[in-house]
This record gives sequence, structure tokens and C-alpha cells, in this order.
Amino acid sequence: MLLDGKKISEEVISELTVEVSAMIAEGNRPPHLAAILVGNDGASETYVASKVKACEKIGLGSTLVRLPADVSESRILEEIDAINKNDEIDGLIVQLPLPKHIDEQKITESVLPEKDVDGFHPVNVGKLVLGLPTFISATPKGIMELLKRYNIETSGKHCVVLGRSNIVGTPMANLLSRNSNPGNCTVTLCHSRTKNLADFTKSADILVVALGKAEFVTADMVKEGATVIDVGITRVEDSTKPRGYVLKGDVAFEEVKEKASYITPVPGGVGRMTIAALLQNTVTAKKNSIKPSKFQHHVS
Ligand code: NAP
Repeated sequence: MLLDGKKISEEVISELTVEVSAMIAEGNRPPHLAAILVGNDGASETYVASKVKACEKIGLGSTLVRLPADVSESRILEEIDAINKNDEIDGLIVQLPLPKHIDEQKITESVLPEKDVDGFHPVNVGKLVLGLPTFISATPKGIMELLKRYNIETSGKHCVVLGRSNIVGTPMANLLSRNSNPGNCTVTLCHSRTKNLADFTKSADILVVALGKAEFVTADMVKEGATVIDVGITRVEDSTKPRGYVLKGDVAFEEVKEKASYITPVPGGVGRMTIAALLQNTVTAKKNSIKPSKFQHHVS
């Protein structure tokens, strides 16, 4: 069965639309997301454009700050500082990757944790690990939402996560091993040094794949009846297509779908849920600024 990220993200988005309308009706301004885009990488342009479009769709304000690829680090830090101090902006994302001459960690740490709706700041990552309320990075958050809304049983299941990046694999492994629903999985986190990878993948009840290698996971690597979540998005050249490429996931969808009980497509799966989760975080950031809650971070 298809885990339809398009359908579920539309459900989430329509719930958010109602929530945002209610906020506005109570006299608040709409939540506002700012995005900083450095350079003109095609994939990054597409991601940022879809985030801005999604904001507009549900009545959120958005600001896109475009900076050239040769911009200095101090200039980006100035922009971030101005947005941190701007009370009209609730959430800030800096689209990654950044050009080589920019220290990504320094940039990530300069975003105010209260506005870090990507959940990349060490304060927010730390809270995630401790199981405290925080901004959970959008892709793992979206996957958890998808599992929840499809009532996928996770408790006691063996979940294998392929890939240990800070934005996908590692938080995913953390979330699924938590004492929560979805959660309570026994998690194995695999990476490029894992030996006999297929031995792990074949024992997975839930397989989350975030490698960035098109169609890496084939049917012989998957257990009959598994739930397969494909995070990968790779542009593969295809001269028959108007854009000159097609998007491929990390899973060989056509063959794996015959074996899996649930599977996400690419596109129309995790990518859609990621955007919905980012919007949820932005609305939460605004709610926190209206009414201080236990969620709020106390930064000295
Ligand atoms: P990343 O930072 O490049 O991390 C890739 C991970 O895969 C690393 O941990 C790496 O291991 C591991 N790996 C690479 N080759 C492997 C192999 N042969 N066997 C086992 N492990 C291997 O990637 P990412 O940022 O997590 O992104 C992964 C994919 O998801 C990309 O295609 C990206 O475009 C996509 N993505 C999609 C969304 C969405 O919204 N759908 C969001 C974010 C990312 P090492 O750590 O040992 O190097």
C-alpha cells in the first residue's frame, strides 16, 4: 500500500489553514517564515520555492533573502541577526548546503533557537535527544506524522535507518527509539562503514532510507511485508524529459513495492511531508510568541 505523502500533507495543511485563520480572527498577524538562499543551486532553488509557495497557500507570510554564491560569511550572519531581532518574523531557515567557504555549523548556531524551525540548532537537537518539546527537523517530523496517520504499528518493531546525517538519519533513529507512539522501536542505524548491510535491511520491519543514492535498495534487501520509507531525492539525467532529469528515490520503487506492505513514493512521499512539517513548526513558533508556553526555550 502506498503511504501517500501528498494526501496526508494536504490533510495537515488544511488543518493548519484552519488554525491560522483562527489566529488571525483573534487579532494576531499571520505566522511568518523567512528563508535565506545562498547561490543558485537548482535543487535548493526548487526546495525554497516550494516552501515559500506552501506558506502562501495557507496564509503565512514569507520573506526570501537571496544572496550570491560568493557572499561573505559575515554578510550572512548580519542577515540572520536582523531576522533574529525582527519581531515580525517567527521562523528562519537557511537552505543547505552552503558554499564551501561558509562554516555551516557557525551559521546554524547563529539562528535563534526560538526561530529555528528547521530544528538544526544544537539547543533544539539536544532537546530532541532528551525527549523535550522542541522543533524537530522537518523530514523526520514529517515521517513520524505519516506513520501516525497511517496507524503503522511501530512498538517493538525492528527499525533500520540507512544514513546517519544530522538532518535525517540521526534524528529519525532517535525519534523511533523513544518511548512514544510512533516510537518504541528497536533501532539499528547503518552508514557507509556498516558491514553486510543487507543482513540488517532484510531484518527490518520498518526501513528508513536516507542515503542520496538513486535506487540503492533493491527487493532482495527488503523483508516481505516491511514498511519502507524512502527519503532520497536524486536528479537522474533523462534527455526524454523536458527538464532533462527525473527524480529518483533511494529505493527501487517498482520492485520493492511488490514486497513491502507500505511504501512511500518519490516524488509524492516524504518530500511533501517535510514541507507540511516545516509549516507546522512555523505555526508553533508563532503560537509560542503569542502565549509563552512550556515549549519556549529560555536562552540567557
Ligand atoms: P547525507 O548527509 O549525504 O548522508 C548520507 C548518509 O548515507 C551518510 O550517513 C552516509 O554514511 C550514508 N551512506 C552513503 N552511502 C552509503 C552506503 N553505500 N551504505 C550505507 N550508508 C551509506 O544525506 P542526507 O542529507 O541525509 O540526505 C539523504 C537523501 O535524502 C538525499 O538524497 C537528500 O536529497 C534527501 N533528502 C530528502 C528530503 C526530503 O524532504 N524528502 C530531506 C532531506 C534530504 P557516512 O556517514 O558513513 O558517510
